[in-house]
Amino acid sequence: MPQKVISIRPQARIPGSAAPRYDGGPLADLRGRPMRDLRISVTDRCNFRCTYCMPREVFDADYKFLPHDAILSFEEIARLAGIFVGLGVRKIRLTGGEPLLRKDLPKLVEMLAPLGADLTLTTNGSTLVKHAQALKDAGLNRVTVSLDSLDEATFRAMNDADFPVAKVLDGIAAAANAGFTPVKINMVVKRGVNDHQIVDAARYWRDSGHIPRFIEFMDVGSTNGWRMDDVIPSAEVVRRIAEAFPLEPAEANYTGEVAQRWRYRDGAGEIGVISSVTQAFCRDCNRMRLSTEGSLYTCLFAQQGHDLKALLRGGAADEAIRDAIAAVWRQRDDRYSEIRTAETAKSRKVEMSYIGG
Ligand code: SAM
Repeated sequence: MPQKVISIRPQARIPGSAAPRYDGGPLADLRGRPMRDLRISVTDRCNFRCTYCMPREVFDADYKFLPHDAILSFEEIARLAGIFVGLGVRKIRLTGGEPLLRKDLPKLVEMLAPLGADLTLTTNGSTLVKHAQALKDAGLNRVTVSLDSLDEATFRAMNDADFPVAKVLDGIAAAANAGFTPVKINMVVKRGVNDHQIVDAARYWRDSGHIPRFIEFMDVGSTNGWRMDDVIPSAEVVRRIAEAFPLEPAEANYTGEVAQRWRYRDGAGEIGVISSVTQAFCRDCNRMRLSTEGSLYTCLFAQQGHDLKALLRGGAADEAIRDAIAAVWRQRDDRYSEIRTAETAKSRKVEMSYIGG
């Protein structure tokens, strides 16, 4: 059982106000990796209590979520996003918490769309029926929906909010009707919890035009009681599916793609596997994360962020903010998944619901 913690938000460092001037050259971190992908957490709240992400024992009625004035406004997010795009970001993912709990999210999408980045959203799908068309009309390009099981009892136990499978399936259908095809469907696989559903999920999404992606259970945060024994390696996921439906590897769509792609030999579509634990992909990681309250994180497993909000609300000009972001990226040396051990897994890391998944 995870231990109750009082605060799981780490102290953020403030980037020096005198960060070196960004010279306009290619931006690379200490391992030569460019910054291409920005994940923005628009809320730290969620209506689910997935046991591997926001366990109810920790995120209970007493848990102090961020107050409204602490979280970035749409105007602040859009301003920062513009600066990130100026520094080379080509893809923006809105996430959380549950991003569709943020009021008027399509309005933020409308503000970000003119930046020209590939604009995507990760959601639990619970309110997509209501929002899919407005998101499409606002300029969202793609949607990823999380759905850990098609089995009612397993899904309700995993989301720990008694939320039914059918409503998420309706959300996926609404997304498809609005023009978000293919929808990517994320399934976090935990041994003994939902791994009996791997082949069923693959079967269900074959020939649907959508792409299920099987994610290794990760040691994000410090509240989900992670143990290596609970991880089903992606190689096993692929083996189990291939036994039922023969697969062959497919080319990555682009460098730094998180999922490894496999396609069915009979042409019934493709699947993806995300193997952060057993086959770390730090070498190509080009992701920067902006937390709900405006701190920058250079790794999903970070223990500390960099407070951009202080600069933003302190009246800094765009150039000063740009220099600070560039300086943070240039100092980046993270490769947590490559050096993960049972010991590092116990370290106090930032929660995924806060930093954005
Ligand atoms: N609420 C949204 C959702 O459900 O998709 C967005 C945020 S959620 C943190 C983003 C993704 O991270 C989801 O697909 C979720 O399943 C995944 N995730 C959360 N905790 C995880 C963990 N410990 N290991 C692997 N994936 C995890």
